[in-house]
Amino acid sequence: MSQKWTYSFGGGNAEGSAKMRNLLGGKGANLHEMCALGLSVPPGFTITTEVCAHVTATGGDYPDGLNDQVNAAVAKLETAMGAPFGGTKAEGRVLLLSVRSGARASMPGMMDTVLNLGLNDEAVEILAQETGDERFAYDSYRRFIQMFGDVVLGVDHYHFEDLLEDYKLDHALKLDTDLTADDWKALLPSYIEAIEKQTGEPFPQDPRQQLWAAIGAVFKSWTNQRAKTYRKLHDIPESWGTAVNVQTMVFGNMGNDSATGVCFTRNPSTGENLFYGEYLINAQGEDVVAGIRTPQPLSLAEKQAAKIALPSLEETMPELYAELDGVRHTLEQHYKDMQDLEFTIQKGKLWILQTRGGKRTTKAALKIAVDMVEEGLIDHTEAIRRIEPAHLDQLLHPTLDPDAPRDILGQGLPASPGAAFGKLVFTAKEAEAWAERGEAVILARVETSPEDIGGMHVAKGILTTRGGMTSHAAVVARGMGKPCVSGVGDIVVDVKAKTLSALGEVLHEGDLVTIDGSAGQVIKGHVPTVDPELSGDFATLMGWADEVRVLGVRANAETPMDAKVARGFGAEGIGLARTEHMFFDAERIIHMREMILAKDVEVRRAALDKLLPYQRQDFADLLSIMEGLPVTIRLLDPPLHEFLPQSEADIEKVAKALGVTTEAVVRRAKDLHEFNPMLGHRGCRLAITYPEIYEMQTRAIFEAAADLKAVGKDVHPEVMIPLVADRAELTRLKALVVEVADEVLAARGVKLDYHVGTMIELPRAALQAGEIALDAEFFSFGTNDLTQTTYGLSRDDAGSFLQIYREKGVMDYDPFVTLDQAGVGELIKIGTERGRATRPDLKVGICGEHGGDPASVRFCHGVGLDYVSCSPYRVPIARLAAAQAALNVDAENNA
Ligand code: PEP
Ligand code: MG
Repeated sequence: MSQKWTYSFGGGNAEGSAKMRNLLGGKGANLHEMCALGLSVPPGFTITTEVCAHVTATGGDYPDGLNDQVNAAVAKLETAMGAPFGGTKAEGRVLLLSVRSGARASMPGMMDTVLNLGLNDEAVEILAQETGDERFAYDSYRRFIQMFGDVVLGVDHYHFEDLLEDYKLDHALKLDTDLTADDWKALLPSYIEAIEKQTGEPFPQDPRQQLWAAIGAVFKSWTNQRAKTYRKLHDIPESWGTAVNVQTMVFGNMGNDSATGVCFTRNPSTGENLFYGEYLINAQGEDVVAGIRTPQPLSLAEKQAAKIALPSLEETMPELYAELDGVRHTLEQHYKDMQDLEFTIQKGKLWILQTRGGKRTTKAALKIAVDMVEEGLIDHTEAIRRIEPAHLDQLLHPTLDPDAPRDILGQGLPASPGAAFGKLVFTAKEAEAWAERGEAVILARVETSPEDIGGMHVAKGILTTRGGMTSHAAVVARGMGKPCVSGVGDIVVDVKAKTLSALGEVLHEGDLVTIDGSAGQVIKGHVPTVDPELSGDFATLMGWADEVRVLGVRANAETPMDAKVARGFGAEGIGLARTEHMFFDAERIIHMREMILAKDVEVRRAALDKLLPYQRQDFADLLSIMEGLPVTIRLLDPPLHEFLPQSEADIEKVAKALGVTTEAVVRRAKDLHEFNPMLGHRGCRLAITYPEIYEMQTRAIFEAAADLKAVGKDVHPEVMIPLVADRAELTRLKALVVEVADEVLAARGVKLDYHVGTMIELPRAALQAGEIALDAEFFSFGTNDLTQTTYGLSRDDAGSFLQIYREKGVMDYDPFVTLDQAGVGELIKIGTERGRATRPDLKVGICGEHGGDPASVRFCHGVGLDYVSCSPYRVPIARLAAAQAALNVDAENNA
């Protein structure tokens, strides 16, 4: 016996089921399932995806046995319907079929469909007799000829449209509906001639020949260009293939007791548990989507809510509506999810043509998941599984009104989500000046530097023409929860001329632009935004996620505002407070510059003394906002040249403050110049050369902590040393921290538990982790630098060519966005194992940008880290991703 290639369904029986999605495609598997559930599905059969694979591999051959199986399946349908395929006048009945594609994953509109198959010159007369509606029969025949001609024989639509238009002109007719049965009868021979003329072959009158040609065309449509492109965009493998569903036709256009429609079992944009959809009386499915007639609402509630005047199905056909509502409940109870279905009513009988999981907004997804738990359909873990963590972003930031038109100027990287509009400014200083006057501004730069921080802070959004996902602009904007589009290559920003040019247009300072940080778009003018609504469902689901996750989630935050946002989003402490970001404020930067440019340690100490009160306040703010939770403060990290004065005015200011000449300042700045600052005098190296910097910072931390503790606050400072490559660096600097901390605490008579740890962000540190853990009480993997140094790839410059790597398929993803598990991940594993071998209670986290990327969070769970730390706005994403990671691992353990 040959392999089974066809699976039949109908009359309450089905050879397949929803579980056979891979073999029968999504559409087919659900048709079988609905049939088995006893719903009224037009009988039919599915030809498997394995046949598609065979056809594709052999260039068009069918496997042995298929012919007999299709014949047998058609015979079954003839018996079920009491009508022969290609009926004869004597029998007075005719079986008509639809032939549709249906892959494992939905690919809407990408492949071909043929309807009304089986009609020919004789069958059309039988259909007219059978239905008593000649016009319907001939209209169906012409639809079939046209569709078959177009889809199967490759005769373009316009040939038929031209004939129809000529006929209408000759006979003074306007609309298709003005044509009578006689008109269609008169027109049809010209359609059939057109096919013969274009293909050189007569139109096939034999229904079986029609059927095989249609099956062949649908399989072939799997490899059309449109479908191939769709698969590439949606990561659908070529090898899956499509199934073909052959089904008896039902008609929604058989008069005013017929109708057709599409519906969702719940509202797909709000999630509300209301039947939602549209239908048309006396129409075929394609009429609903074609937009020629205005579809009517399904339910009365929907009609009232949307203030639609047209009658709902609930009003026009109350009994059928009730039956459809019953189907809705049956399907939801069975699939335990919101469904998207298609139905047809033929002369007062309801038929269900398709069901599938309905697409929905994130807001709707949350509401549906939470409601379904309350309704007892699913449990907490299933609800958690159903929400895509990355999609939560949609809820956390203002977004552009999806209905508003967009005049797009350029496409860059979606560096920081959310949307904003404002007036264009080109420097941080202007941003601050304009913002002071109460203007909303968008800061446009070639790239940003730490000096721009003030301007970035006041801007509503940031755009840069250079830089990747971990460029300065991107990291800082994400930290601030501000929308940012980076690396918009097609836009030219001229800071001197204060212009932004794109697509032949030139925009000037003060012109309105909108940026969509989630889509990476820069748009001309003002596109309205809609505000986030963190509903009760969000909080409920996040609560369930927290119950199952084992990985801790902290935030990267250094301003009080970020810290508050982070705590509001459920952060369990701060995993990284970057102290260098605290020095760019106008009041402080001058002292910072005095410190850097100081000629000796005395002058440096004097400058540091001026910075101390600021830092103490910074730390006091963070520690009190995060009361009861750990706050990891990283001591100064970046290369000092980032703080050097650039403009003449700034140079003069510093010279004056230091009491030296401007030349001396310029000379000293030159001395500090480095060719490779990212690999230069930064991180702990600064403190090895200038220990007084870390000394001041440590003093500030512990004075703040001791003062808070003295008034009864529960504070947990953790001091983190960056860019350690060797234990000796840490030994020395830890000793310095401990000495200062203990001295401050003793002086104030306060007892306080604190920890000193290190970042692991150099490959050598990961390899030496066993040694380093002799001193470090915790590790935090700085995966931004670890990725940079493991790949030897500059985090600031790689954006320009990584895109080309991805386009050429050399790299599948940006390693600065999603952790490279094979390389960087291996170092994390090694570092964690070696560190814990030395110190079993070593706390290990990660604080690079990857801490908020769902795939990377899953990895961190897998290798047993204690926590991830990410931008405040990514905290909920990380919480959910960590919960899903825990659930998957549980499932594997139970398997
Ligand atoms: C890192 O390198 O991953 C890190 C968190 O530090 P930064 O981004 O400040 O260098
Ligand atoms: Mg780093």
